[in-house]
Amino acid sequence: MKKMGLKKSMLSLSIAGALVFSASPLALPTALAVGEGPGYGGNETINTSILTTYDEMADYLKKQDAKQANMELEVIGQSVKGRDLYLVKYMTNPDNPTILFLTQQHGNEQLTTEGALEFIKHMGSGKMKGVTDGVNVLIVPMLNADGAMGDVNFSLEDYVAKGDRNLTRYNANEVDLNRDHVNKIQPETQALHYNVMQKYDIDYMIDLHHQGTQSERDGELVSGSILYPTTPNVDEDVLLKSKQLGAVVFDAVDSTGWGHLGKYNGGNAETISRNGIAVEYGISTLLFEMRGMSDHEYEPYVLGQKSNGYLIKQTITTLDAAVRAISDGSIENADISFWDTLATQTTRPSSEE
Ligand SMILES: [Zn+2]
Repeated sequence: MKKMGLKKSMLSLSIAGALVFSASPLALPTALAVGEGPGYGGNETINTSILTTYDEMADYLKKQDAKQANMELEVIGQSVKGRDLYLVKYMTNPDNPTILFLTQQHGNEQLTTEGALEFIKHMGSGKMKGVTDGVNVLIVPMLNADGAMGDVNFSLEDYVAKGDRNLTRYNANEVDLNRDHVNKIQPETQALHYNVMQKYDIDYMIDLHHQGTQSERDGELVSGSILYPTTPNVDEDVLLKSKQLGAVVFDAVDSTGWGHLGKYNGGNAETISRNGIAVEYGISTLLFEMRGMSDHEYEPYVLGQKSNGYLIKQTITTLDAAVRAISDGSIENADISFWDTLATQTTRPSSEE
């Protein structure tokens, strides 16, 4: 019964999503959605004009803030180029467990932000009534705002997407923000650490990214992949709760019919948020890598927009499931044994020689 309710609410969200993506109403996902996507090698163009711009996002957040009594909008700092970086807060009770959702540390990984923006609208709807009584929710969307807008101090000539802008992994200084979590040199990383990580008592974090298009598990292309902290320095209880967070997400996404998740093959470096934040703050973290990037210099990483609908929905499903499981406490009973059998994704061999 719970599943039915979720599906129904997702459908109405997809229709509402057409407002954000006015140039291209979202297609409803189908069971075959994962295989339909890559597109770039075929006839599909990659058009970034349908993606929400930074300014559109800022307007949208301010409008939601005005509409939603429970929501607070805060500026946590500025990007290299001076763009305000936002934190969306739903803090019902400081004693409640708190989860942080972080999107777009890599500017060319935008659909997670699109999903987070839809989720913010979802948070203000009657569907979350009662849920926020048991959990505090923090959302930092589009941390790498300059990269997302292609407003950077390096050349974009090799980026493959067409449209209003290119989107880059790096920030304006050509630094990978997700390798800056120990030294914290970039203004975006500082804003996140000083005004979010060190200011709130956060229990869980999902760090949302996009990976390439050709990863598979058990012979099928994946819609994404997940991983817990893999540094040996992580506290045992933090690791357990990270795996439980992964179990909640896996159960919600992999059971949809269109979601198919693999285990991400990630490193141990603590410069990466999944590892560094788990160690420094004792926060249970989950990396979620959605399939396919919005732009890149390397073609097989980029995914055509035909897949946008289900990837945005995958983000909303993930955030919704995590918030509900923390709120009702069911996350503490999540069965983590699936991690023992979940295969690490592999790259589909190229058909070209
Ligand atoms: Zn990334």
